[in-house]
Amino acid sequence: MNKFDFKLGIIVALIFSAGFLLNILQNKNQTINQLEQEKEQILIELDDALKIKSQKQKKSVKKRTKKVKYQGTIGLVIDDFGYRNDAVSEGFLGFKTPMTYAVIPGHQYSSLMGGEAKKFGFEVIIHMPMETHIITKGEEDFILMTSQSDEEITSRVNNAFKQIPQAVGMNNHQGSKATEDRRVMTAVGNVLKDKSKYFLDSRTTKNTIAEETMSLLGVSTARRKVFLDNSDNLNDINRQVDELANSAKKDGVAIGIGHVKENTLAVLKKRIPELEKSGYKFRFVSSLLH
Ligand SMILES: [Zn+2]
Repeated sequence: MNKFDFKLGIIVALIFSAGFLLNILQNKNQTINQLEQEKEQILIELDDALKIKSQKQKKSVKKRTKKVKYQGTIGLVIDDFGYRNDAVSEGFLGFKTPMTYAVIPGHQYSSLMGGEAKKFGFEVIIHMPMETHIITKGEEDFILMTSQSDEEITSRVNNAFKQIPQAVGMNNHQGSKATEDRRVMTAVGNVLKDKSKYFLDSRTTKNTIAEETMSLLGVSTARRKVFLDNSDNLNDINRQVDELANSAKKDGVAIGIGHVKENTLAVLKKRIPELEKSGYKFRFVSSLLH
């Protein structure tokens, strides 16, 4: 190799090295630019995310501070548990609202339903069969008749509480004749007083003296204001729910009675959440007594 070749070799090597270095530098610059762009993009996104978060927070604060105006208190009683153990009774056990379930003694599912209602968090009362002005059948071992002695009435009321021990009170099933009878209602009231249980007057006759008799005896009591399902028609039940809500708004408190029936269940499933959202409170009857 001569001297010239050697120099040329070095020059060529230098040129290549310079090109290589330049290439590295260029790449590095590109990477830096890319990183800068990405950083900017991330900052923009972060900024947006923070804005959205603060907007959401503002909204939830607004939601929390937007108070629903209180409208009134409703006591909802469902009568006639004990006859059936099916999808309808099960549907009622699915409510998450405080309700009072009245179980009629002397039927196939009386004890079972008392236990189930209590287990699912409902208030349980005895739905006591009582004599009407027309002749009816059923509950022969439990029905309270004006022809019975005080001892017989006492024994029947005691037996009902033995069958449904979860019960904290009582209301009347039918009973247009018995609830007009001072002696019968006094006999009933004396047992309830002994047991510290309450009596809700279902008011199946306008001449009832049940509530008044209980007050005289010192038994906690209240009265039914609206029957929800005397008619099984969906529109009629809805109208009765409206009436119950209006009464609660007007008087502060109103007690409504419905029954373990399919259409009643359907209407209440829809209406209870609506009423709660619009400012009505649902309470057990035990907290609405005088
Ligand atoms: Zn009934």
